[in-house]
Amino acid sequence: MIRDSAAARRDVLSPDAKVGPEAGVRRSHADVKPSEAGRGTSRARLANVTPRMLRDIWMYTGRFLGLRRRRLLLEPPLALLIAIIETLQLLLVLRLLLLLVGGEASVKISFAGLSVEAGFISLASVAGALTFVNLGFRVLESRLVGGLAAEATSHARNMLFESYFAADWQQLQSERLGRLQQLLGVNAQQATTPVITFCTMSLACITLALYGIVIAVMAPVVGLTFLALAIGVTLLLRPLRGKSKRGARQASASLRELQVTATTYAQLNRELHVFAAHHAATRHLEQLNGTISEQFRQVRTNARLIPALFQQMLLSGVLFIVFVSWVLDLDASALGAAAVLALRSMSYVQQVNTATLQFIEAKPFLSELTHAIDTQRSARRRTGDEPLAHVDELQLDGVTFTYADGREALRTVSLRLRRGEWIGVIGPSGGGKTTLANLLVGLLTPTSGSYLVNARPATDYRSSDWKSRFAILSQEPVLLRATVAENIEFHRSADANAVRGAAERASVLDDITRQPYGFETLVGDGFGALSGGQRQRVALARALLTDPDVLILDEPTSALDLVNSSAVEAALQKLSSDTIVVVVSHRRNLLSRCNRFIRLEQGVVVAEGSALQVGLDELVGGDEEAGPA
Ligand code: ADP
Ligand code: MG
Repeated sequence: MIRDSAAARRDVLSPDAKVGPEAGVRRSHADVKPSEAGRGTSRARLANVTPRMLRDIWMYTGRFLGLRRRRLLLEPPLALLIAIIETLQLLLVLRLLLLLVGGEASVKISFAGLSVEAGFISLASVAGALTFVNLGFRVLESRLVGGLAAEATSHARNMLFESYFAADWQQLQSERLGRLQQLLGVNAQQATTPVITFCTMSLACITLALYGIVIAVMAPVVGLTFLALAIGVTLLLRPLRGKSKRGARQASASLRELQVTATTYAQLNRELHVFAAHHAATRHLEQLNGTISEQFRQVRTNARLIPALFQQMLLSGVLFIVFVSWVLDLDASALGAAAVLALRSMSYVQQVNTATLQFIEAKPFLSELTHAIDTQRSARRRTGDEPLAHVDELQLDGVTFTYADGREALRTVSLRLRRGEWIGVIGPSGGGKTTLANLLVGLLTPTSGSYLVNARPATDYRSSDWKSRFAILSQEPVLLRATVAENIEFHRSADANAVRGAAERASVLDDITRQPYGFETLVGDGFGALSGGQRQRVALARALLTDPDVLILDEPTSALDLVNSSAVEAALQKLSSDTIVVVVSHRRNLLSRCNRFIRLEQGVVVAEGSALQVGLDELVGGDEEAGPA
């Protein structure tokens, strides 16, 4: 807890501190990586789609959909069907309009050497029927995209759960508070973007290609004019697009940083007020927000302006074609159809644009998400498959433990504990007691030296066996927002009798049965049914549920008042004489059953033996005192 807020404060004190995998995102507007700035200028690209972006989109859909990505391949054929139907619909409507204008009764349609004579009614019925067919396919397509998008987010969240809760505890400890929540919310939500971008782009590009073919066949002049126009306009608008793209990338990166900073400040709310730093914090956030707002202003302005410019330029193109055909007296119906398709294609170009911009905005969130998942996965706890029926002996051999930040918390500690032994661990704050406790319970692995259980390396054992043989009770009992029974059971399957037995051994049974709902009473964050001492004994019952062979007590009573700590102490006196108990404490009563002591100072065992040999009296207060400093 202390460490977490220290780390958080470091982030706050140095606003330039690198945060997360995308460290260094705090760039000003003009300050863009040369590689990014150069990327847009190498080739003219329609709508800023780059091969690299396509690769990224495909890669992310794979990350978030796994094998289900195969279903994405249904999108292109569906898109082709929709595009064909839509083209037919547009052409039919045009024919109908021409019939109406010309006042004729029927029209001769020739295609691929076949020619059919069709009346107004039959043409109109076909057009009407096509509407239903198109709608049908649209419903199918929307369901496909919606379903896959939802799956991407849900799979991203599941990967987060799975990787976080399988990760090494040491790795988790170095995580920022609230980071998992942020990843589950904002970042996981963005997992839909690559899926949607892929589908939108498929549909738009396939439709555009089909329109292109039809226009080229019907009126090559129109096709060529539009192609020339489209390329010209794209080239003209390229600088604007490039700016949008960079702006979008920067704005997302800044937004991510704002979220991280705001979360940190929110966690430090109390300190900020006590140290009167909240004004500075607010100003810092406002400044970050201002930067984002400036970046987004550009992006949003361009996002509206570019399509409008595009549209106007293409409309002038149509005007030009109409003028040319009037001068040259060309076939009006084919020209008209081609022009309508060309105009219609604009909305698809726009869709591609919007989709790419969205993907660019989502990318920093996605790379943070996948980076977090990969980091946690690579820090998976090491376990073996050796069964562990009973712990007879624990042995630390020259164990040194160094935290990720280089701090050496334990140095060449050697210790041997046999069945039924109670060992007291004393020493000043920061001496390494908690580190030792975490090591013994298997949360940390020695940096060097060895930890043997029954003369085998601790990591050889099967994790399920290990967990039922070891238990820890720490200073702050944290209860789930659930019933008392569920808190004792703690997701391990145990029947009501076992839960009751554990509560009895932890001397909390009477306290529970006195509650109006007994074991069904809701406790945890937001429910104030239990006192501190009762909560600690519920936590003890949780620890005792599996009848562990090793129980580590890390200052379990130091946050409690005298009455409450006596209740916990009394409960501990009832432990089976077979248990190995490690007691880290400053309370004489709690230490009274220990037959051996070690004294840890700056990570080193400076004394070992009886109470007298380790100088218990000078370090441990009487029980009338409050907890330690
Ligand atoms: P104690 O429980 O005796 O007060 P700890 O085992 O908590 O001592 O800490 C021992 C040393 O390791 C201290 O210097 C502390 O600052 C450092 N430390 C504890 N936890 C971490 C951590 N997660 N990362 C880095 N250093 C840590
Ligand atoms: Mg401690």
